[in-house]
Amino acid sequence: MTGDDPGDADVVIVGYGPVGAMVANLLGQAGVRTIVLERDTEPHTMPRAGATDDEVLRVFQAAGLVDELLPGLDLGRARSSSRCAATGW
Ligand SMILES: Cc1cc2nc3c(=O)[nH]c(=O)nc-3n(C[C@H](O)[C@H](O)[C@H](O)COP(=O)(O)OP(=O)(O)OC[C@H]3O[C@@H](n4cnc5c(N)ncnc54)[C@H](O)[C@@H]3O)c2cc1C
Repeated sequence: MTGDDPGDADVVIVGYGPVGAMVANLLGQAGVRTIVLERDTEPHTMPRAGATDDEVLRVFQAAGLVDELLPGLDLGRARSSSRCAATGW
């Protein structure tokens, strides 16, 4: 879908948080015409993904985003513990 005709979408996702964004990516890759509706007009002011794990990286990989993200990740800290190195989650 190009975004020109929102009424032509097969799926409507409400909310462009991490879940909505990733589902939209995966649906788009599968050829499903998808539109995302987000009430906020600006990005969040606080970072919300200071730490991630291997499962999330696999999802990024499935969405074709991992090569772009890897250079910015501190993998050394992640390897040092099974818990989140940055937050302790
Ligand atoms: C400061 C902070 C730091 C965090 N750090 C981490 C971290 O390091 N690692 C980690 O794994 N998690 C972290 N989290 C948790 C992570 O941000 C959440 O788990 C994640 O954002 C949840 O994603 P979501 O898409 O389900 O919901 P949300 O991120 O809440 O996104 C929902 C979106 O839907 C929109 N929306 C809601 N209702 C409507 C509506 N009726 N119409 C249109 N739009 C609507 C909202 O505006 C929002 O943009 C952090 C959270 C915070 C607050």
